[in-house]
Amino acid sequence: MMNKPFDYFAPKSISEAVSLLKKHGSGAKLIAGGQSLVPLMNLGLAAPRQIIDLTHIKKDSLSYVKLDKDSLMIGSMTTHSAVENSPQIRRHCRILSETAMTIADVQVRNRGTIGGSVCHADPAGDYLAPLVAVDAEFRAINPKRKVRTISADKFFVDIFTTALKRDELLTEIRVPKRPSTRNGSAYVKHKYVEGGFAIVGAAAVVSVNKDGICDRAKVVLSGVSTRPVRVDMIEKEFRGENLDERAIEEAGRIVREAVHDPLSDIHASADYRREMAVVFAKRALRLALARSRKTGAQHN
Ligand SMILES: Cc1cc2nc3c(=O)[nH]c(=O)nc-3n(C[C@H](O)[C@H](O)[C@H](O)COP(=O)(O)OP(=O)(O)OC[C@H]3O[C@@H](n4cnc5c(N)ncnc54)[C@H](O)[C@@H]3O)c2cc1C
Repeated sequence: MMNKPFDYFAPKSISEAVSLLKKHGSGAKLIAGGQSLVPLMNLGLAAPRQIIDLTHIKKDSLSYVKLDKDSLMIGSMTTHSAVENSPQIRRHCRILSETAMTIADVQVRNRGTIGGSVCHADPAGDYLAPLVAVDAEFRAINPKRKVRTISADKFFVDIFTTALKRDELLTEIRVPKRPSTRNGSAYVKHKYVEGGFAIVGAAAVVSVNKDGICDRAKVVLSGVSTRPVRVDMIEKEFRGENLDERAIEEAGRIVREAVHDPLSDIHASADYRREMAVVFAKRALRLALARSRKTGAQHN
């Protein structure tokens, strides 16, 4: 139960929100959907002195899905449900809608936001691995209205820790557009109960050339470490290769080595997590590969 008092602010603009962050310093917390922050406050694990509520900011300044020539742009306040159901995201970044679909239940998906989820940086959070896999970039703004772009690779620093500075607000996530053919992606998740967090989440992105040979293969894992694990060796070893079943088995061996010090908790031991990382990485790769080989398949 929440037992610490706090001041509540409902800014109407992004600049008002970041000014409040600067004014109140480390005791202040932004709140988006409240699906992570409120449970933490209820458990007594967070006790902000000031709550700055982002839900009163004009809706289309932080909650949107847009496209330009090169990128898909997703406002940080876009809910998981909107990510799941957006036709643009389904078309240009299928892996993200697929990921949103696996999060919790309808109630959480209707309130929780993609920005809140990545800023919370729970190692078991579902978006982390797919966003690193698709080379997403995160845009943040500070009280001087300076915009900073951070690659997803650098954004997730540690457990519940991101590269955001104390007075920065995440405004947007950008995903580069890929050609609509010969690119495939997939996110698969091993959870302990339906709607639960990932014990292991595996994201794979594969591009093949016209002969079906691999141009690019990338695997990123959530849930196994304090931050997403990018399996670099797969990117290095499989370029120019035929991704047949032997190569997929080899990818499994590489994943086992990459996950050298997995998390261990009441849901799964370290050894179990490592084995599941191998199984789910191979599943994600097979699915991404099959999608890349379907004519007209959408990446990403
Ligand atoms: C029952 C339940 C089951 C869940 N299951 C899953 C699951 O299976 N998979 C999964 O991935 N997640 C799961 N979640 C977490 C859910 O996805 C949350 O919605 C998400 O983690 C946080 O998003 P939010 O908008 O609610 O953020 P909030 O809780 O409002 O904020 C979270 C953190 O992000 C910060 N923040 C929010 N927005 C910004 C911003 N724009 N800029 C800077 N900082 C910001 C806040 O200050 C806070 O520290 C579950 C949650 C619940 C309650």
